[in-house]
Amino acid sequence: MSSPNILILGAPGAGKGTQSRRLVEEFGVEHVTTGDALRANKGMDIGHLDLEYDTPGEYMDAGELVPDPVVNEIVKTALEAADGYVLDGYPRNESQTEYLDSITDLDVVLYLAVDEDELVRRLTGRRVCEDCGATYHVDFDPPAESGVCDECGGDLYQREDDTEETARERIRVYEENTEPVVEYFRDEGVLVEVDGERTPDEVWADVEDAVEARAN
Ligand code: ADP
Ligand code: ADP
Ligand code: ZN
Repeated sequence: MSSPNILILGAPGAGKGTQSRRLVEEFGVEHVTTGDALRANKGMDIGHLDLEYDTPGEYMDAGELVPDPVVNEIVKTALEAADGYVLDGYPRNESQTEYLDSITDLDVVLYLAVDEDELVRRLTGRRVCEDCGATYHVDFDPPAESGVCDECGGDLYQREDDTEETARERIRVYEENTEPVVEYFRDEGVLVEVDGERTPDEVWADVEDAVEARAN
């Protein structure tokens, strides 16, 4: 079996990154995540586009979407280089969905369903390793030693956009722009909806089954 092309959808904090890491280990796919790619390029000069802000970081700190031309280019380059992938954080609106459709074929479309209050609890307690990107939660998934990554010993930090105020704004932007994307895949009959409000292991059991059933 060649490596599958997987799309994972869900609101900010739904657990996409957590499940994606397991998909990488289990199915040998590349993790393509626009959030991480943009965080690595927060200061990139996009002034030539003549839009609201001149860098991706300004959109991100406000909880707004970075302009389509910037993210579309990142995704195209990453998917061309990948032999099987899990795409996380993209598409986030209808125009990105059309663009994705024009550049690739998906084998599996997963959707992690989680309630708003739970999303806010997850986002505000999230901690990320600055060296390897592993994700923790101060209450739901704490590291053995506070502030230190179990996997590599790196320092954990809190993302600037994981404050309650920006988290709620990101969820609002998600409902407005990205819920129609979920509906699009539901209407196409390809959406595999998973109850994301269980433990990571329980969610993973359904995610793994869905990919195994569709990737052959
Ligand atoms: P989360 O994992 O909490 O959903 P991400 O790391 O995916 O958050 O995204 C962080 C920020 O990066 C978003 O709030 C947005 O500003 C920007 N971003 C990420 N992906 C996209 C995208 N596909 N389109 C536009 N902006 C994006
Ligand atoms: P996303 O990539 O969708 O924004 P993450 O995978 O980064 O979401 O998870 C957001 C936060 O919630 C992290 O702190 C993570 O440790 C925690 N988390 C992930 N999955 C679960 C789960 N099933 N139950 C409780 N907390 C979770
Ligand atoms: Zn680490």
